[in-house]
Amino acid sequence: MKSHENYIQNEWVAGAGAREVIDPATGAPIAVVAESSREDVERAVAAAREAFDHGPWRRSTALERGRLLFRMAAVVGRHAAELAELETRNTGKPLVESEVDIADTVTCLEYFGGLATKVQGSTLPVPDNALNFTLKEPVGVAGLIVPWNYPLMLLAWKLGPALAAGCTVVAKPAEQTPLTTLAFARLLQEEIPELPPGVFNVVTGDGPVAGRALVESMGVDKIAFTGGTETGREVLRGVAASNLKKVSLELGGKSPNIFFADADLDAATDGALFGVFINQGEVCSAGSRVLIQQDVYGPFLDLMREKTQRITLGDPMARDTKMGPVVSAEHFERVLGFLETGKKEAKLVAGGGAARVPGFEKGYFIQPTIFESDNQARIAREEIFGPVVTCIPFKDEEEALAIANDTPYGLAAAVWSRDIYKCLRLVKGLRAGIVWVNTMQPCYVEAPWGGYKQSGHGREMSLHGIEEFLEVKQVHINLSEAPIGWY
Ligand code: NDP
Repeated sequence: MKSHENYIQNEWVAGAGAREVIDPATGAPIAVVAESSREDVERAVAAAREAFDHGPWRRSTALERGRLLFRMAAVVGRHAAELAELETRNTGKPLVESEVDIADTVTCLEYFGGLATKVQGSTLPVPDNALNFTLKEPVGVAGLIVPWNYPLMLLAWKLGPALAAGCTVVAKPAEQTPLTTLAFARLLQEEIPELPPGVFNVVTGDGPVAGRALVESMGVDKIAFTGGTETGREVLRGVAASNLKKVSLELGGKSPNIFFADADLDAATDGALFGVFINQGEVCSAGSRVLIQQDVYGPFLDLMREKTQRITLGDPMARDTKMGPVVSAEHFERVLGFLETGKKEAKLVAGGGAARVPGFEKGYFIQPTIFESDNQARIAREEIFGPVVTCIPFKDEEEALAIANDTPYGLAAAVWSRDIYKCLRLVKGLRAGIVWVNTMQPCYVEAPWGGYKQSGHGREMSLHGIEEFLEVKQVHINLSEAPIGWY
């Protein structure tokens, strides 16, 4: 079994302790990683601080940083097959999905490589004999806190803009899924050894210890966080109690996927299932509330049930597997808890418990599950983050919008109809950061990602994403040589 240390200043450094990493398909340990203490995290922060304040990185040009990101993308591309396998081994997601994640990681690093040289300030027409302009400058040392559902891809969403902007970085992957991040660090060490020490550091370990230390560190200027809303609150508390560092939060959701009667039934039911069951439902934008117009409710639900029964659970490494295990024993118990709640407060349509997969008896597999309820049930309000969907009927456009927006979250929403007027009215009415029409889940690095309401602060990816890692400096140059003449 492989053992990994923290990656600090381009070297492998032992942490205070060690923890096992589990393959969720088998429940067996597959690696040992560092369990970092606050001191371990501070050591990584000090390296990133030194690299930002005094290292050659500070003098790097945007062109150099952009080219470096292209090289990083190429490294990931060359090792795509092994990284995809490792991601699947560690997260349980089907290999075909990990392959997409790794391809998206490459695209993301390339995008921000290209964007590095397009960061621009502006000149401002102040009413004076003066020249006024803005400079965009890196925010400093960035702490990147990454969850377990898309480990390497979500690292890239943060690392790409951070490095393009000129920040240095300490990354903390989720305790369950650090392996591709560590593999990426090893590949950089071997294939891009000239990356200045301290620019990219990785510490592994527990969120409430290592993650919290990063959030509270006085040497960190910015936290980019993806995870649960409750942890997001903790992050804000830590930021408020330390140095008021900048923070962006990509939190959870309870996204509505809305189906009008005129939508094509076959395409729509596909969209309803893909919207929630992809990646075992462990998706922040999962369409976990399916809103169906009354007129087609019965046939829609029947077809959803029928198609759900065809979803193949199995060995995540097998190419025909469509759903793997959830990420950990703890999460497995949490999702099963929601299933029990659902059985008490709602009507079970399909699934409803753990799934038995021959050869993987100790894996954390859960049946894709459909409930029917109203929007007040706990299963319709709380983020489950597993293969569980709640179907809710609605009468008309007005009711659909009211139900859709009746949630503390606002990450994403989708609407399906052939009536473009209706779709566009919904687009305007939905309180969500991402709205899809006649599809759900496509995600592009060119387009912003982030939530309204309790789904977060700020945006990732796109031109907006890099702004999260930039400060704006106003420069005002007086062109008049006369004294101010006030006193
Ligand atoms: P968390 O929000 O706890 O984890 C996300 C990241 O934050 C991990 O790296 C975690 O580290 C870290 N972290 C945890 N506590 C702290 C802290 N106090 N300070 C700083 N960092 C911290 O997610 P969970 O794994 O606990 O999942 C709980 C729920 O959160 C899920 O069921 C789901 O509802 C939601 N979630 C949403 C995600 C999204 O994409 N929006 C992604 C993941 C989860 P560590 O893992 O080591 O504890």
